[in-house]
This record gives sequence, C-alpha cells and structure tokens, in this order.
Amino acid sequence: MGACLYLVGTPIGNLEDISARALRILTEVDRILAEDTRHSSKLLRHYAINTPLTAWHAHNEGERLATVLNWLREGQSLALISDAGMPLISDPGFPLVRAAREAGFEIHCIPGPTALITALVLSGMPAERFVFEGFLPARASARREALQAVRHERRTTILYESPHRLADCLRDIESVLGAERPVCLARELTKRFESVRTGLAGELAQWAQMPGDEGRGEFVVLIGGAEVEAPVRALDAAQVLDMLLSELPARKAARLTARLCGGKPNQYYQWALRDRQ
Ligand code: SAM
Repeated sequence: MGACLYLVGTPIGNLEDISARALRILTEVDRILAEDTRHSSKLLRHYAINTPLTAWHAHNEGERLATVLNWLREGQSLALISDAGMPLISDPGFPLVRAAREAGFEIHCIPGPTALITALVLSGMPAERFVFEGFLPARASARREALQAVRHERRTTILYESPHRLADCLRDIESVLGAERPVCLARELTKRFESVRTGLAGELAQWAQMPGDEGRGEFVVLIGGAEVEAPVRALDAAQVLDMLLSELPARKAARLTARLCGGKPNQYYQWALRDRQ
C-alpha cells in the first residue's frame, strides 16, 4: 500500500457498525496502532483480521512518535484506531497526525461512528449548531469553572462523562446552569441496553442519586442552550427621539436615535421635522 497513515473509525458499541472500507484497510495495512491491543483484538478477531497490533495510547504517544514516523519513512502503511469511535476524539492520536502532516506523509480518514454525534441526533435537542467540551475536569472546582464558561452558551453543549462522576456532574450542572436547564443523558449507545433520558437538570440530578442499573455504562451528557434573555425594556425610538430633541438640534438627535435604536438617521430626522411642524 505504501507509506500512509489511516485514521479508522471503529464501533462505539455494536460491532456491526463498521464500514466495509474500514475492514478492508484494517486487513491491508502493515500495522495497526491501537489504544488497547487486548480490547481491539476482540473486534479484529470478530472480523478475522490478523494484522499486527502495536499499542498507541496517551502514555506512550511521546516516546513512540519517532518510531512510528520511522515506520512511515520506511514505507509502511499504518492504521490508527481507538477503543471505540473516532481516534483523536477524546482519544489519543493528535500528536501523531500533526507530526505526520508536518512531515508530509499521506493521511486518510475512514470515518465511523462517534458517540457525540450519535447522541446529538438522538437527543431531540437542536443539532444544527453545537459545542463539544469532551470530558470536564475531574476536580469539582475546575468542573464548575468549566460549566460557568458555557453558562450563556446558546448552542447545545455536549460532554463525555464517566458513570462514577455522573451524579456529581449533574449536581454541578444544576447548581451552575440552574435546575430548569434541559439535559439529556444518552447511555450505552448502539448497545443492547441503549437508553435516552431527558429532563430538567434538577430532576436528573435527583434521579442520579439512586439511578439503579440505569446509572451504569457509558454516557454522553447534552445540555440545552441558554435561552435568549429578553431585554428589560426595549427602547422606543419615538420616545428616545422626543427626549433628545428637547436637548439637541434635530440632526444630532436623529443620529443618536439611530445609534441607540437602530434604523436610519434620515428617517428620524424626517420624524423630527414632522413633529416640529
Ligand atoms: N473516541 C470516542 C468517540 O469517538 O466517541 C470517545 C472516546 S472517550 C475515551 C469515551 C467516552 O465516550 C465515554 O466515557 C462516553 O462518554 C462516550 N461514549 C463512548 N461510547 C459510548 C456509548 N456507546 N454510549 C454512550 N457514550 C459513549
């Protein structure tokens, strides 16, 4: 195949969710770089793929980088996969892609499912614009700070969260964004016990105290965008113009009214002249 790095999407739950092209590339490359070789072996065994596996994870990315770039220089073809979903999305791979691109190697992506997009389209929340924050910090104070930063976000915010921090995360969403904020929990996507639970932050924070079996597994948390706050009192252009006319010449009053209320200065100037007739 020649020197090339393939970024290959793998299933996030259901092993059938892998493309024919991904299977062909995983069969044909010289070597697969996998986040957890034991985990990926299950997928590869399922499809009878015997390509050699090399570990590529967050803790060895730095030291392995030179070796992997050498493999590309030697003309090897490599496929990078993560345990689930797309590599690089809250998973290792970014330093490798950056270095391979800087070194001028050929890179292709064979896309597959990713939990954030699967959750978003299922959630019933606005999906045209969204923000992905990945995992929030584990420390409570840093997590609340991260939530403060999205407090006024109008777009749907998507988070990854581990099941043992879910209750704390929901409690912080309730306290920072308010009990009335819509939230959706997408759990075990594409797997046998897939579920989607929607509610208000306060309700879900309470549910998460005693979730039973429904609190186990993998979660994507989606937060509805902040409502646009209505201005306290819209400025009435005619009133503003009247007030300004009592202090200023008509042209200046018209110009300022346009700046404060929108619209064209000339329109307000005509109003001013009419009022003075
Ligand atoms: N690279 C992956 C992707 O493209 O979605 C994400 C990897 S990240 C280390 C793992 C997190 O993704 C989990 O903690 C969970 O938040 C989310 N996730 C992965 N698979 C999931 C699934 N089947 N259902 C719900 N969330 C999932």
